[in-house]
Amino acid sequence: MSANRQAPPCPRCGAQETVPIVYGHPSAEAFEAAERDEIVLGGCVVTPDLPIWLCRACDHRWGRLGDGREE
Ligand SMILES: [Zn+2]
Repeated sequence: MSANRQAPPCPRCGAQETVPIVYGHPSAEAFEAAERDEIVLGGCVVTPDLPIWLCRACDHRWGRLGDGREE
């Protein structure tokens, strides 16, 4: 999928097991992606302080939704 966001490695443990956290009401596509472990559904309550990346290796979450998709 060319639309995939580039996921940075985990800043805490360095693992390349980062998945984007998707907020808002999930679409059917988002549900399917979550079932394939390509994304994590963060829920429908959206604030600027939410993290945007999740490391599956150490469960670290980082980034800020309000800052856009910067690493
Ligand atoms: Zn990590």
